[in-house]
Amino acid sequence: MDRRATIIGGGIAGLASAPALHDAGFEVTVRERATGLPSRNQSRDVA
Ligand SMILES: Cc1cc2nc3c(=O)[nH]c(=O)nc-3n(C[C@H](O)[C@H](O)[C@H](O)COP(=O)(O)OP(=O)(O)OC[C@H]3O[C@@H](n4cnc5c(N)ncnc54)[C@H](O)[C@@H]3O)c2cc1C
Repeated sequence: MDRRATIIGGGIAGLASAPALHDAGFEVTVRERATGLPSRNQSRDVA
């Protein structure tokens, strides 16, 4: 049987699900809308 999964969104949920599905035997594709890593406006230094 052809087992494929497409995950919409490369956030923490998507990136956590991808290896779990892969380990379960799925060929996994992650589709992410954003074209790059978050800008400095979206992430903050904590130190
Ligand atoms: C301002 C703010 C501060 C936060 N601070 C904290 C914190 O300090 N600690 C903490 O534990 N949590 C924090 N959270 C919550 C945390 O960000 C979320 O719980 C977590 O990111 C949810 O992960 P997720 O993978 O479900 O969604 P997201 O991280 O939102 O990821 C979803 C991804 O899907 C992509 N996407 C959306 N639609 C599409 C589409 N149609 N096609 C392709 N890709 C798509 C988006 O670009 C995004 O990359 C904060 C949230 C906000 C808004």
